[in-house]
Amino acid sequence: MHKKIRTAAVIGSGVMGSAIAAHLAGVGISCWLLDIVPNSLTAEEGAAGLSLQHPKVRNKLATGAIAKLKKTNPAPLYSEVFADRITPGNLEDHLGELAKVDWIIEVVVERLDVKKSLLATIESVWTPGTIVSSNTSGISINEMVSDRSDAFKAHFLGTHFFNPPRYMKLLEIIPGEQTNAEVVQYMSEFCEKILGKGVVIAKDTPNFIANRIGTYGLMATLSEMLEKGYTVEEIEAVTGPAMGRPKSATFRTLDLVGLDTFVHVAQNVYDHVNTEEEKKIFHIPDVLREMVARGWTGEKNGQGFYKKV
Ligand code: NAD
Repeated sequence: MHKKIRTAAVIGSGVMGSAIAAHLAGVGISCWLLDIVPNSLTAEEGAAGLSLQHPKVRNKLATGAIAKLKKTNPAPLYSEVFADRITPGNLEDHLGELAKVDWIIEVVVERLDVKKSLLATIESVWTPGTIVSSNTSGISINEMVSDRSDAFKAHFLGTHFFNPPRYMKLLEIIPGEQTNAEVVQYMSEFCEKILGKGVVIAKDTPNFIANRIGTYGLMATLSEMLEKGYTVEEIEAVTGPAMGRPKSATFRTLDLVGLDTFVHVAQNVYDHVNTEEEKKIFHIPDVLREMVARGWTGEKNGQGFYKKV
C-alpha cells in the first residue's frame, strides 16, 4: 500500500528543487522545500552578529530560493496563496516532517554518494507507504537504493522533471527493479493528471532516454565549437531557430541547466560507455571544467557562457 499524494517534501532547493516545489504549489500541493545548513557565515552575517545557530542562517538556502522564485515569477504566477503552500527550511531541523508527508522528492546534487547518504537519512524517518522519488538526470535508480530495505525500494522510483519544470511537458518515470507496480501506475497517473506532464517510462540505463540523447547532441556541438573554430554566436544560430528549436539550443541551455550539473551528467555517460569512439564523444572539454572551477556555473550565479547584467 502507498499513500495518496496531498503533501510533499522537496529536498534540494536549487535550480530544479525550487521550481518543482513551485509547480507542486501551483497545482495545490503543500510542500516543504528543504536544503542543507551552511557551514560558515558570510562576512555580512558575522557583522550582523548572527551565528550558525540562527534560523535565518540555518534556513537561508531554501528561503533564498523562495525569494528568487518570487522575483522571477511575479504575481499572478507567484501569488500569496501559492506562496503559503511552500514552507522553506533546512533538512537537519525538519527531518521529522519527512515522516508526515505523502511524497518525498530528492533533488540534490547529481552525485551518487550524496544521494545514497541522503536516502539513508530519509529511510531513518520513513513512514511505510510514503512514496520517495529522485529527480536524478541519469544516475542509476537501483544503485541509489542498493543499501535500503525491500519495503523502501518498493516505494522508490525516478521522477525526472525537465528544466524548466513548469513548462516542460516531458517527465521520465524510472522504476527500479523492486518498485511496486502499483506505485509506478499511481505515479504515472498522478504526474499526468495532476501535474499535467507527458509521462514516458524509461529503463534504468545511464542518463535514461532524453539525457542520453541530449548529452550526445550537446557534446557533439561543443566539440564542433572547440575543434572547428565556430563561435558561440554561430553555434547558437545554427542549433537554435534554424533547426526549429527555441532561441538557443546550446549555450543558453547549458547556462540554464548549470554547467556543474551538466559536467556530472556527461561524466555519468562517459563512465558507462566502453568504446574509444564513445569515450571521445563524451569526453568533457577542459573549458567546461575550467569554467566550473572558476564558479561560472551558469544562470544560477550570474555567469556561464553568458553573463547576467
Ligand atoms: P543545484 O546545484 O542547482 O541544486 C542542488 C541543491 O541541493 C543545492 O541547493 C544544495 O545546497 C542542495 N543539497 C546538496 N546536498 C544536499 C543534501 N544532502 N541535503 C539537502 N540539500 C542538499 O542542482 P539542480 O540543477 O537543481 O539539480 C538537482 C538534481 O536535479 C540533480 O540530480 C540534477 O541532475 C537533476 N536535474 C537537473 C536539471 C537541470 O536542468 N539543472 C534538470 C533535470 C534534472
